[in-house]
Amino acid sequence: MTQSASEITVTPARDYGNEVGHGWPVVVEPAPGELLSSWLHRLAMANGIPPQYFGRVLDVAGGDWSAKLDRDLPGRILNLLVERTRLPTEDIDGLALNRDPLTRLRMRQTTGSGDARASTARVNRLQYCPACLKEDRAPFFRRGWTLATRVSCFRHGCSLRDQCPACGGGIAPSRQNRLLRQQFCVWCDADLRKPTLPAEYDVQRLERLIDDLLRMHVAGHGRHGKTSLPAMLGAACFTFNGQPTSISRLPHRVRYVLFRQLADGMTHLQKRSVHPAIDLWTRIARAAPKHSDLVALLSAEITSQITPGTKTRSRHPDLADLQQVIVRLHSNRRTSLATAMPAN
Ligand SMILES: [Zn+2]
Ligand SMILES: [Zn+2]
Repeated sequence: MTQSASEITVTPARDYGNEVGHGWPVVVEPAPGELLSSWLHRLAMANGIPPQYFGRVLDVAGGDWSAKLDRDLPGRILNLLVERTRLPTEDIDGLALNRDPLTRLRMRQTTGSGDARASTARVNRLQYCPACLKEDRAPFFRRGWTLATRVSCFRHGCSLRDQCPACGGGIAPSRQNRLLRQQFCVWCDADLRKPTLPAEYDVQRLERLIDDLLRMHVAGHGRHGKTSLPAMLGAACFTFNGQPTSISRLPHRVRYVLFRQLADGMTHLQKRSVHPAIDLWTRIARAAPKHSDLVALLSAEITSQITPGTKTRSRHPDLADLQQVIVRLHSNRRTSLATAMPAN
């Protein structure tokens, strides 16, 4: 109490605003292959805001606000995210599905009412691999999982899942109103990482061929417009609940069965092969058993040319074989897409 005033030192606190500028306190680095919405949810939670309310911070309305940004990231929001996180523009822009050549095959997001009890809110189409989420230090959703042509995980060999294993609700991390990580169901809090069954070999073989063909399309090797590979695959309609439905609107369990039927020969669909889009699906399914052999031959041919002394005699020009398969997949489209049932 005898302390004199001269012994008391008062140090002004540094101004928080000057220290961090306009940036948010915590910056989360995007994970390789992460979907924009997944990163936004993790960024929101790291800064103490449940994802359901983060849409307001970005001035985006609706319960599925982050799914909207996946498909269309406006420049003003991109600039805001760059300013607040100080991450490079291209790093953030690369997480979205803007200018996506595979748009036709991305799973459709529903526009739910925002009420967790409403059925529309329970059918969000977002699938994931439970084993991948289990391996993640901070579980995140991959861009590749948004493709309707994906039904299994190439890394773990198990089926993907698009419903909570406990309550059957859709996967909707944007509706999380508490600070819970993305591996928990927003409807019932159950852990989403319950394992799924291994995918069948034939199903994965067909899935890999389609994935490779789509990669070639993205790389510029393919037609564009209505006769492009993704447009044709997306134009095909399959019966679901009595209605013709494109693959982008089918739940995972139906797409998995469809792939298995295609891999098995799917005779009842071959009768309908007058539709070019259906015909393409069956042609790809028939080519799938040869796919791995062709890739192996192509790989061996290329490797033998860059590894001295290991060149082996090939049966035929393997690259030509591969090209012929691609040409056949796009050939015989005598009729226009008008004869195929539109997907939308
Ligand atoms: Zn996985
Ligand atoms: Zn649940």
